[in-house]
Amino acid sequence: MTDRRHQLAANLAQVEERVVSACAAAGRKREEVTLIVVTKTYPASDVRILAELGVRHVAENRDQDAAPKATACTDLSLTWHFVGQLQTNKVRSVVGYADVVQSVDRTRLVTSLSAAAVRAGRELGCLLQVALDAGSGERGERGGVAPDGVEELAAAVAGAPGLRLDGLMTVAPLAGPYAGRPRAAFDQLREISSRLRANHPAANMVSAGMSSDLEDAVAAGATHVRVGTAVLGVRPGLG
Ligand SMILES: *Cc1c(COP(=O)(O)O)cnc(C)c1O
Repeated sequence: MTDRRHQLAANLAQVEERVVSACAAAGRKREEVTLIVVTKTYPASDVRILAELGVRHVAENRDQDAAPKATACTDLSLTWHFVGQLQTNKVRSVVGYADVVQSVDRTRLVTSLSAAAVRAGRELGCLLQVALDAGSGERGERGGVAPDGVEELAAAVAGAPGLRLDGLMTVAPLAGPYAGRPRAAFDQLREISSRLRANHPAANMVSAGMSSDLEDAVAAGATHVRVGTAVLGVRPGLG
């Protein structure tokens, strides 16, 4: 094994242990939580190693980096999640490789994703990104729809050809009433998810929790955790 492979295997094992413990503490089965490894800023060679180590879900947040990486990895059986703020001029490219877009946060994006999915002859999974710190009618600083905009946006996705409404995603807010309280934030997301499922029972994915707060997310009922740093290492610079 190469050094990098050893390192990724050890990190993955550690994250797996954390997920297992968090599930046990919450009285949940391990199979209820899917690990998504966020590979942003890291090379396709790392994605390949992760796939060999059994990872099945990867996530990216910038199309410029993700598109060539996904192209280099088409032979791997991976599900690709897009988790970054998405501009409509990138939609066509993203729909070319993403299986799930977790950052759907406005109707204009829904229209654009739908058109691209239909043109590509694909069905695209969509999660609505909820900005728990956004006021009514606003969007979050890092993207996301305000909690009171979820129902309307969900209806738009559910009615859009080529799109499938899979559930909700959030990032624990750094500011506002939820700052430093990821558990409370994830509980709130879970609450919003319950309301959503009253009208959209199949939209049962709850994507929450990153390297620093995955235990809180599992305790709050998340079905998917998105882990970058704890598997791949601290990213150089922004990302
Ligand atoms: C980068 C990123 C993650 C992973 O964060 P880590 O702290 O590196 O685990 C999760 N979700 C989103 C939306 C991200 O952009």
